[in-house]
Amino acid sequence: MTCMKPEGRTPSDKSQAGIDFNAFEKMAPRPPQEADKASRNGGRVKANGIAPGGIYKPNYNILTPHMRSPEYVQLSTAAAITLGIMNGNMHRCSCTRCLNLLLTYPEGCRANCAYCGLARHREADRDYADRNFIRVDWPAVPMEELVDIVARDPENSSFHRMCISMITHPNSDADTVTVLKKWTERVPADQIPISILSNPTTMNRKDVELLRDTGADIFTVALDAATPYLFDRTRGRGVNSPHSWRKYWEILNDARDIFGEKKFGAHIIVGMGETEYEVLSLVQELVDMGGHSHMFCFFPEKGSLMDHLPATPRDQWRRVQLARYLIDYAGVRVEQMAFDEHGRVSDFGLGQRELDTIINAGIAFRTSGCPGKFADDISACDRPYGDSPPSNIASYPFQPQKSDLKKIRGQLKSYLSLPSKEL
Ligand code: SF4
Repeated sequence: MTCMKPEGRTPSDKSQAGIDFNAFEKMAPRPPQEADKASRNGGRVKANGIAPGGIYKPNYNILTPHMRSPEYVQLSTAAAITLGIMNGNMHRCSCTRCLNLLLTYPEGCRANCAYCGLARHREADRDYADRNFIRVDWPAVPMEELVDIVARDPENSSFHRMCISMITHPNSDADTVTVLKKWTERVPADQIPISILSNPTTMNRKDVELLRDTGADIFTVALDAATPYLFDRTRGRGVNSPHSWRKYWEILNDARDIFGEKKFGAHIIVGMGETEYEVLSLVQELVDMGGHSHMFCFFPEKGSLMDHLPATPRDQWRRVQLARYLIDYAGVRVEQMAFDEHGRVSDFGLGQRELDTIINAGIAFRTSGCPGKFADDISACDRPYGDSPPSNIASYPFQPQKSDLKKIRGQLKSYLSLPSKEL
């Protein structure tokens, strides 16, 4: 098997019109605007001072109440439907297997990540609890009420896992521990284990230890950007945001030491301007450390600084999904794969028959994340339509069926080095 390592891409590389990947040059975020003084730091919500009364559904034409973690948390629309506190149907899914929670404050997240609907620059036009995040609304609920519902019968709950997303706020480290305690006091951790989606910028090693000691099972770091340069462009100085690649890796290394093998991981967004070689080298690095990668397909989130940019082309996404699965679960190494001059996968490093078996099993194309109760390679965190509309699914929140696999094969078909008849 030949292995061609492309030269590392730099910001001056030329993108090619019509090419099937999101090149670095076209993926530049808009510069952020700072909000007027009155809207900063949740100014509107605090000035109105509306007391919360139970569940708050975003955009119901009532003023946003003053809600704060740890008493209040937000949860994904999918989790709210599964929990029975919101009506609705999800395309081809009866429920979600992960209860995704988000800490909430009127001041919101103090970071300004370019692809994120929760970013600080939005405070002029939307109160924090009303902002869309990974394409959906996040209703707010009192934590006690939420735990009451799940604690009635955790063993038979639809949820295979609960996850707390920390956001960047001065109180989020302490409040995450309180939310975690509120949960573990009432819900046995072996029945519904807990993941933490951390906020490294405000954390130190002791915070990571405390989360493990309080009952967290898996610790993840949302690197999101696959290279230091992209990180700085989308999450750091490029958008007046406080994050740094170095700090994220410091906490990721702490997580490896403290949580141990297969109990830590990193989130990565594919298609923000990195090459396939770069992102898959990162996947390999995480596997070599003993961890996992949890992948998202870039989607232009409404209201974000990247909402004018194209979603990741499906062929780029399918190549990376498949290659990531091979590295994470099939023992293939990035060095066994080959890449073309644009850093695209041109050979997956596996015989055609074995590759076909993995493609046909369909698991490689499901949403990736922390495992649930079915299998190590089936994520509890299925995030229905968090990275695409149902009409053109990126991450399948269910087992792909025959017709889905036909579509996936079609998307991989434009991949030049694999003759279509072999897919
Ligand atoms: S830190 Fe997380 S929640 Fe805050 S803006 Fe960045 S991606 Fe969004």
